Amino acid sequence: MKIKKEIEAIRPEVIELRRDFHRHPELGFKEFRTSGIVKDYLESLDLDEVHTCSGTGVIGILKGGKPGKRVILRADIDALPIQEDSGEPFASENPGIAHACGHDGHTAMLLGAAKIWAAHRAEIPGTLVFLFQPNEEDAGAQIMIDDGAMEITGKPDAIFGYHLWANFPLGKIGIHPGPTMASSYYFKIKIHGKGGHGGEPHGAINPIDAATYVLSAIKSFHTLEQDVFQPTVITCCMIHAGQKEIIVPDDLEMEGSIRCLHEGHEAVHARFREMVEQACALCRCTCEIELKCGNSLLNNDEALTALALETAETLVGPEHVVTKNVAMMGGDDFAEFLQYGPGFYFFIGMGDPAKGTDAHHHNAKFKVNEEALPIGIEMLMNLVSDYLKR
Ligand SMILES: [Zn+2]
Ligand SMILES: [Zn+2]
Repeated sequence: MKIKKEIEAIRPEVIELRRDFHRHPELGFKEFRTSGIVKDYLESLDLDEVHTCSGTGVIGILKGGKPGKRVILRADIDALPIQEDSGEPFASENPGIAHACGHDGHTAMLLGAAKIWAAHRAEIPGTLVFLFQPNEEDAGAQIMIDDGAMEITGKPDAIFGYHLWANFPLGKIGIHPGPTMASSYYFKIKIHGKGGHGGEPHGAINPIDAATYVLSAIKSFHTLEQDVFQPTVITCCMIHAGQKEIIVPDDLEMEGSIRCLHEGHEAVHARFREMVEQACALCRCTCEIELKCGNSLLNNDEALTALALETAETLVGPEHVVTKNVAMMGGDDFAEFLQYGPGFYFFIGMGDPAKGTDAHHHNAKFKVNEEALPIGIEMLMNLVSDYLKR
């Protein structure tokens, strides 16, 4: 009850912070202004430690007055390269850049929670680590880790993350055990043929023909080979080749992603390489295949998920906890932190068609429902409190 009142008291400040971040969105690893505000804010709370990491990442550490576990709380701080069309009075002032995923809300929520926790530090049985991560939209977590983030945070007993979620109605909390967000690897295939005259295709080797075989091999992989209970999606989203209708091009490039909502991504990748190479060979082409990790599989720890379910049911009532259709083929690089300890990631519903806060993430009309912010803060704070009590 006491926490609810304190969250209510801090709500205007959280909203003000969120709107300020929203007005001044910054792209991945260029979040200089945002990062500066986060750092100053954490320093004003007189935390035990405040560090920067990988340029614009910020890590604050609050040691509670009682011994206990070490918990990392992660918020992402980056915006997207998109022209905002939300109609909000505090819309982006940076042309072509917008907080169209809600990370402005995530950052403001964690700052608000940190302020309340800092005021109660003597009562906290454990250590809280506030981790503000740059560039979630393009694999920033691993860069933060490579730059020593986990040496700063120390070995965590648990790691918690969250996302404001337009697909769930306001007041709902989405919880899912195990594989919850798919691993995502980006592929780039360069197919090499032999250029020539469009009227004499037999004298050339057309990489476009090879690309059609590659695409149909991917389709037959989906339908014939892959276990339907091991969700896997391979999508080609870019193909570039050719410059004139009468010239067979030398080369072709195709790019896309491979997503797996299961642990078996390495076998899928191996089969993908094999299929692409053989499809190209069939057309007398050669190829080079690059696979780059976008994010790993986000696997929610079963015990933490069970605890979170209790916390959420107490907070919003069992009827408002969404447990179906929560897992998705989209990803979040929160997953990279989970190699250092068990973690749990949840979704804070904010969809309300009357307010337009059900617009999809990454859409120009995307809007955060500010009513969801206190709910998210309370869920996070109660979850940590329940965890530290155990
Ligand atoms: Zn996003
Ligand atoms: Zn996001």
